[in-house]
Amino acid sequence: MPADYHTHTPLCRHAVGTPEEYVDAALAAGLSEYGIADHAPQRPEPFDDWRMFEAELPAYFAWIERACVHAAGRIPVRAGLECDWLEGCGEWIADLSSRFEWDYLIGSVHYLGGWDFDNPKWLGRWAESDVEEVWTNYWRTYARMAESGLFDILGHPDLVKKFSYRPAGDLARFYEPVVDAIASVGCAIEINTAGWHKPCAEAYPAPEFLELACSAGVPLVISSDAHAPAEIGRDFNRAIALAKQAGYAETLRFEKRGRRTEALG
Ligand code: ZN
Ligand code: FE
Ligand code: FE
Ligand code: ZN
Repeated sequence: MPADYHTHTPLCRHAVGTPEEYVDAALAAGLSEYGIADHAPQRPEPFDDWRMFEAELPAYFAWIERACVHAAGRIPVRAGLECDWLEGCGEWIADLSSRFEWDYLIGSVHYLGGWDFDNPKWLGRWAESDVEEVWTNYWRTYARMAESGLFDILGHPDLVKKFSYRPAGDLARFYEPVVDAIASVGCAIEINTAGWHKPCAEAYPAPEFLELACSAGVPLVISSDAHAPAEIGRDFNRAIALAKQAGYAETLRFEKRGRRTEALG
């Protein structure tokens, strides 16, 4: 099984479990590596109610260390962060990069302006939104995140579909420019299996996006976005099949922000 690099900890206030439970779940799932990438702190604080505070970074490092101790060489434990892409965040990401010997950083777009559009509390706002406009803004933002070159992995590429609000017509018009931007920078994307368990009932990204990404030579990892130990490695066989259908034969392993390829499945 591939590595699972996108997993959370209770420090973000909406995940459960102990480091020991996550390591045991990763071992039981037969994963090649267990990577921790909790929601990164964000300035100014308090920013929102779904991430660790900057002052909790030492507790995060201690959580990672407890996972390493419990793993005891049985499975590599990797350290990362899921960072929010916000316009002008470069300095803060550079600061965070220097706080620990990270194995990788994931970049995610959860915010459009001040709107964390994937938060279920905004379903009413979605119902009143111009979906075409939100999608245009989302993908423009996602391309800018890719072009920043700050991240090793780009998270849940089409998260904007989470609540099943999709514009009419061929969505390739949104995907093509973004895939070009990602390919020109050379960072990886993930298949995020959590999407199968959301209202959209589809992994992130859509198969058409994945095919374009594969054709453009964009590398791929597979992620669960686990917020509980039972979700580690969830639906990985299904994701591997999806990746192969899109043309992928390889995935990536990360260590100290360097990467190597590995055959898929
Ligand atoms: Zn989360
Ligand atoms: Fe996320
Ligand atoms: Fe996440
Ligand atoms: Zn995520």
